[in-house]
Amino acid sequence: MLGLYLLLVPYSHAETVSDDALSNEQIFSALDSGAIGDPATIDQYLAQLKNSITVDDLQDYLRLQRAICWNSFDIEKREQISEAIEFANLKLTSDIVANSPITVTDLKLCRAFMYQMAGDVDLAIKEYDHVIAESYLLESPRLIADSRSLRGALYSFQGNFAQALEDLITAQNLYESLNLEHWALYNLSDLATSYRRFGDPQTAIKYYKKLIDKFMSTNDTDSANGMKTEIGFALEELGEDEAALAMHLESYLYWKKSIGIKGSAHTAINVAGALIKLGRIKEAGQYLKDAEQFIDPSLGASYSFMRLYQAQVAVEQGQFDTSLAFLDAAKQAFIHIKNARGLELLYQIESDIYANQQDWQQAFNALKSYIANHKQLDNTQQTTRTTEMRTRFNTEQIERENQQLIELQKIKENELYILKQNKYLQMLVIILGCIIMVILSIFTYKQSQKSKLLSILALTDHLTQLPNRRYTYSKGDGYFKSKDSNEQPLSLILFDADHFKKVNDQYGHDIGDKVLIALANISNGLMRKQDLVGRVGGEEFLVILPGTTAEQALNIAQRLVTTIESGGFEDIYPNFKLTISAGVATYIADKDFNMLLKRADKALYQAKSAGRNCAILSTENAR
Ligand code: GH3
Ligand code: MG
Ligand code: MG
Repeated sequence: MLGLYLLLVPYSHAETVSDDALSNEQIFSALDSGAIGDPATIDQYLAQLKNSITVDDLQDYLRLQRAICWNSFDIEKREQISEAIEFANLKLTSDIVANSPITVTDLKLCRAFMYQMAGDVDLAIKEYDHVIAESYLLESPRLIADSRSLRGALYSFQGNFAQALEDLITAQNLYESLNLEHWALYNLSDLATSYRRFGDPQTAIKYYKKLIDKFMSTNDTDSANGMKTEIGFALEELGEDEAALAMHLESYLYWKKSIGIKGSAHTAINVAGALIKLGRIKEAGQYLKDAEQFIDPSLGASYSFMRLYQAQVAVEQGQFDTSLAFLDAAKQAFIHIKNARGLELLYQIESDIYANQQDWQQAFNALKSYIANHKQLDNTQQTTRTTEMRTRFNTEQIERENQQLIELQKIKENELYILKQNKYLQMLVIILGCIIMVILSIFTYKQSQKSKLLSILALTDHLTQLPNRRYTYSKGDGYFKSKDSNEQPLSLILFDADHFKKVNDQYGHDIGDKVLIALANISNGLMRKQDLVGRVGGEEFLVILPGTTAEQALNIAQRLVTTIESGGFEDIYPNFKLTISAGVATYIADKDFNMLLKRADKALYQAKSAGRNCAILSTENAR
């Protein structure tokens, strides 16, 4: 009864999760672990999941359907149990669910559990069998544990201890290996109950006490209290009726205080049972009367025992007909839920009543039923004993199999993790690649800027910022070589400051530098856009004049000479005077640029010789 009992009673003091908003993933794992006990909190979390998950988030959507089936229906209400079954049926027909075997199997398990809650135990067992087979095919330890735990609890309730023990031990092993402590505890309570029903109440009490400690350590007082009820049953089986009554009373008072008279109805029946054993019939009758208002036939287990106890009370009060009516109701309920232990007690009472009424035929029939039932129970217990022996020896084998399952599960999880990890790695590589590209392009850009600057520096005269000799000559060479194709004349003016040594001597080298800068600027300012002025020596400059005839070039040279002579250096030194001499040469039949340059140099030399401050055209051009 305990398995059902714990599931039926909401344990309001169970560990709750903090108010801080949880991620969907956190909610799913909290629901999976069974850590949330408070129904309001569960509703709130389910609402969050429903609001944030769409069919497009396939994995989450599937998990949500499972969570809804298991968590959103109140199994104390018949209509809601039906709704849960309808929900599972509906989802099982959807294509999305059908493509996920794990979801299908879990929803079938949820539906089977609902069948059990609705009292259809035959169908429930059939479905559990089916789900267990599927779970093994899917190699899902969690599903195997859940399905065998539920079937084991039901078998145990029906008195099929052999099967119950195998199921529950397997589930116990798996839950512990999966570190699902909460479910391991619930399963352990069913395991303990099976031992009690199997006729080993001592072992059962040992487990129950362990469970109480565990539940108390997590402040789960509801579950801890549920264990007291179970200890009460175990003590009854040991014949310790006073101690049993004390336990049932403790449990009853706890529920009455925490959830009221309705919620404590189940435990009131247990108190009544213990009181009857102690011969306190009147008190028992009172408890049963209280319970009767809330216990209807849909609550199979509680209902059948309530009717049985009512029958006992009626017998003790001499109301045989009433008693028989109660027994009839109890019998149907026991047969329906296949409780052989209940039936055994029932037939005994029935035969006593008929004997009392001297209805020997009926008394005989009841006894016959009693014997048949007892024989059946004996058989079951015989098988149970053999199986239990085997089961205990088999535990090692079960553990090995479970271990393999767990390992398989871990491998699957690992593979998933690696897949995820690979995705991250790919992203990382792409991001890193992008970063490297950006760095490289920045670097390349800077490098090209730098080399541009370097080449400018290499081609520029540092003092005057004019093209230096190398650049000027190479430009001149370029013009010389292209002059044939464009049939344009090409002229050069080579000029040199006069007596510059004296400038330095008289005014100092710094002033000399400034004068050179001014000379460069004035000369450059006089030339056209297409002309090029370069500094080719200390105080010697070359002007390249493309498309310029000898006559034009000489004119420009003379203008240059007079411009310099007329001043422009006053800023540097008051009344400073400078003259230049220039040699002009225009291409005629020169072999190369160097030859043309030499002619300009020769003309410059002639200008110097002619007394300086003048421009002279190369003799070859003058002719
Ligand atoms: P001329 O050309 O008229 O025959 O006489 P000069 O004194 O100009 O001739 P020379 O070639 O003998 O002297 C050139 C002088 O120019 C020598 C040097 O001190 C000066 N000089 C050359 N480069 C620089 C420079 O960068 N800065 C300064 N301040 N002086 C320079
Ligand atoms: Mg000079
Ligand atoms: Mg010189």
